[in-house]
Amino acid sequence: MNKRTIKDADLSGKRVLTRVDFNVPLNDRQEITDDTRIVSALPTIRMMLEKGAAVILMSHLGRPRGEFKKEMSLKPVAEKLSELLDMDVRFAPDCVGEEVRKLAGELAPGEVMLLENLRFHAGETGNDEDFAAQLAALGDIYVNDAFGTAHRAHASTEGVTHHLSPCLAGLLMEKEIDYLGRAVEHPEHPYIAILGGAKISGKIDVIANLLEKVDTLLIGGGMTYTFLKAQGMEIGNSLLEDDKIAMARQLMQMAEMRHKQLLLPIDTVVGQSFDNDTEFHTVRVGDIPADMMGLDIGPATIDLFKKHIADAKTIVWNGPMGVFEMPNFAKGTVAVAEALAEATKNGAVTVIGGGDSAAAISQIGLQDSVSHVSTGGGASLELLEGKTLPGLAALTDK
Ligand code: AMP
Repeated sequence: MNKRTIKDADLSGKRVLTRVDFNVPLNDRQEITDDTRIVSALPTIRMMLEKGAAVILMSHLGRPRGEFKKEMSLKPVAEKLSELLDMDVRFAPDCVGEEVRKLAGELAPGEVMLLENLRFHAGETGNDEDFAAQLAALGDIYVNDAFGTAHRAHASTEGVTHHLSPCLAGLLMEKEIDYLGRAVEHPEHPYIAILGGAKISGKIDVIANLLEKVDTLLIGGGMTYTFLKAQGMEIGNSLLEDDKIAMARQLMQMAEMRHKQLLLPIDTVVGQSFDNDTEFHTVRVGDIPADMMGLDIGPATIDLFKKHIADAKTIVWNGPMGVFEMPNFAKGTVAVAEALAEATKNGAVTVIGGGDSAAAISQIGLQDSVSHVSTGGGASLELLEGKTLPGLAALTDK
């Protein structure tokens, strides 16, 4: 990565304004149900404290759309962070304003303060200049460790960088860019990508860009059926994006022109309805009954995909192979996750895009058996599309 990081900076005695991604899931009692994102930021926070910084953390949570909403307060996150760091974490009642400026000014080296939800102000997502300047006034140096929002040019990810110097990457940001960037730019071959999830829409640019880089693209999940339809097959009641059939055809032609393999499932598990308890069985993809729907890849496809995974040196995976939330239709996703863990053991670099595939691999318990699980769904997809992330581009070059 060609950006400066907190590793090579003098932070001693500095107030470091740090963008983190604490957009954690909360239940209706405002309890954190998954603290992965907080835990992922700990190495950066700890290193900054060791280097003698006063750490001011800022994040968004949910979509309050520019208004204070009690149920989207970051207060429970401050408490959790305090527990995880085993130290007092101050909580500011807002992210800008006189009182917050005073609290930031009083923060001593070795102390941590978390600001209230950035998105309680419309200026955050609007990248308002004045709002960004007010945020920037709280710190001497800027650090961005929020990979999950790096694809958005918001006040806390882009606007602030016009007012502070240097602007450094945190350790999580560095790790994300190292793994995802390496997979995109300098992969060891054979390089394969596995794409799944519900829909083609939203992933067309990813597929097009990956077809330039990978040797083989494996397709599973709900998007399979639009591809099958594009090949003239009947798909029963399976998920279909009618308006993407032509695009699916184009993508298959693109693969052929570039001499890349685009592999679709050869068999599929079909059920009567979108329900774990529905009756199900496996059919060849050409034989999907008119009154049934495809809910997972079948065993022959699992074997086929496993062979490709075992032979690959670099593997990127985004999107489940079936409706993995329902145990009866999670087998394809579990098998792919296990094959990735095995490939990692044998020396392959394996990268899991964020979002549903990250949730799937944690559900299976194999998150520590792959090279890297990205914390950013949208951001990792945009990197795989070959786009520049504004929150990364804004950081100081080495
Ligand atoms: P995405 O957000 O596009 O990655 O899609 C993830 C979702 O796709 C998950 O909630 C899966 O349940 C769903 N999914 C995967 N396979 C299928 C399928 N065959 N039919 C319907 N939904 C699916």
